[in-house]
Amino acid sequence: MTEVIVDKPKLKPLRKPHSEETKRKIGKAQEGVKGNNWKGGIIVDKEGYILERCKDHRFANSAGYVRQHRLVYERYHKCSLLPWAIVHHKDGNRANNDISNLEASTQSKHCGHHNKFRGHQFPSTNSLTC
Ligand SMILES: [Zn+2]
Repeated sequence: MTEVIVDKPKLKPLRKPHSEETKRKIGKAQEGVKGNNWKGGIIVDKEGYILERCKDHRFANSAGYVRQHRLVYERYHKCSLLPWAIVHHKDGNRANNDISNLEASTQSKHCGHHNKFRGHQFPSTNSLTC
C-alpha cells in the first residue's frame, strides 16, 4: 500500500484571538470602508471623507486615521490646524482633497457659508465638517 498517513494537526490557534480592545479598533478602522482592498492606509468613512492613516497625528482617531483634507491643508501650508478649525471643501465634494478645493474656516463662518449656499449638502450628523 502506498497510502500516506498524515497526522491531523492539533487544534491550536495560529495566533491568539484578538482582545476586545483590538476588535473594537478593527471595527472602527473598517467602519464605512469601501471594499476590503488595502489602499495604502487610505479609507473612506461613511460620511464620504477620505481618511489617511497617520497614527501619530494629534487628530488621529483610535484606529490611527486622520481626515485627509486636514492633512493636505496642513502639509501645504506647513501649519498645524487648531482642533476647532474647519477645512471646508469649496465644491462640496468631500472626496476632492485638492489643495485648491480646501479652505480653512471657523465653525461660525463655515456655518454661515453653508446657510448662504444651500445647494451644498449638509451631512445629517455633523453639519460643520465639510
Ligand atoms: Zn463646508
